[in-house]
Amino acid sequence: MRLHEYQAKLIFSKHGIPIPQGRLASTPGEAKQIAEEIGLPVVLKAQVLSGGRGKAGGVRLVKTMQEVQVEASRILSSQIKDFPVRKLLVDKGVEIRQEIYLGIVSDRSKGQPVIIACGDGGIDIEIIASRTPERIIKTWIDPLIGLRSYQARELANEIDLQKEYWKEFQQIAMSLWQIFQTYDATMAEINPLVINNEGKFLALDAKLSIDDNALMRQRDFLELRDLSAESPEEAEARKFDLSYVKLNGNIGCLVNGAGLAMATMDTIKKCGGEPANFLDIGGGANSEKVSAALMIILSDPKVRSVLINIFGGITRCDEVARGILIALQEVYMRVPLIVRLVGTNAEEGIEILKGQDQITATTLLEAAQLAVTKASGEEI
Ligand code: GDP
Ligand code: MN
Repeated sequence: MRLHEYQAKLIFSKHGIPIPQGRLASTPGEAKQIAEEIGLPVVLKAQVLSGGRGKAGGVRLVKTMQEVQVEASRILSSQIKDFPVRKLLVDKGVEIRQEIYLGIVSDRSKGQPVIIACGDGGIDIEIIASRTPERIIKTWIDPLIGLRSYQARELANEIDLQKEYWKEFQQIAMSLWQIFQTYDATMAEINPLVINNEGKFLALDAKLSIDDNALMRQRDFLELRDLSAESPEEAEARKFDLSYVKLNGNIGCLVNGAGLAMATMDTIKKCGGEPANFLDIGGGANSEKVSAALMIILSDPKVRSVLINIFGGITRCDEVARGILIALQEVYMRVPLIVRLVGTNAEEGIEILKGQDQITATTLLEAAQLAVTKASGEEI
């Protein structure tokens, strides 16, 4: 779960990281009022859950009230990478002496968090990372010991930060680690962390992602969740407690169990196809969940065939078959449907689906091959 910049900034500030003065606005009028209170210049920042807002025109430093009005209206009626902008953060404009990148992410391959810094942060950090990777400094953190202050100092040294700034940089890095750990984050990032013309540090941007699997013990965040800013399919899936991830292929997958879902996707790929999604309906899925899942899959216009792969254990195949029937009544099945049911009550399940316009398969390989052929529009 990703937080908006203004939400992350409040958390960062609570943990001692300095942030610019600022407030949230929903209308150009509110933006003007805030600008009057905090004084010009101000920065208007689109609050969308997407990076690269600066380059997409979602961040503007403005110096007059007239500009506040014009730019606030423009940003509030714009879309940034398909996300409509609903809210603006109006921050006090800062004169920048240096932009630094500082972030902590989970390094899954090493099984450790890694703290990353660069003395030249800002909107071109990706370009720096690809052209001059040696300028991006990484230090891995032992999760049982935590970030040590000497590691933060070494980081300051390696990014060539002037010595007078080391102490404060170290404090900010330690706070960022504390935040990462306290909130079960998968990413906590400040880009840019700036030194202003008075030599003071300020986090001009803030990104915080919370591990979805930790939300059961990070309940405060559930209220912050901005469903309108997430993809509608993923929000819908969450409502029905389905694990759904949209992908780029054209074969929809509806599977019970995360492991079987991944095996299904691998098999589709092995047969030369591309899955349109990952979808695990979970154990004991009832017909309501199955029909919701099928509708979510079909709402993706790229989908050309749908493969349902159920291994009935706790989930009974007849229950799934009933879900399919309900879904078939509610949605127009515009693409071929391939169903493989094995395990508990498989025969009843297949019986229930008789007379429907679906193709049944016995093995996963057979089902995947059928789904790939059908998706490519060839006759079998
Ligand atoms: P992002 O593009 O989504 O990462 O948005 P950021 O919040 O990082 O803003 C993009 C860029 O705008 C920053 O890297 C800064 O260079 C610039 N910027 C943001 N706030 C200010 C500010 O207060 N003053 C100045 N001069 N530039 C700013
Ligand atoms: Mn940024």
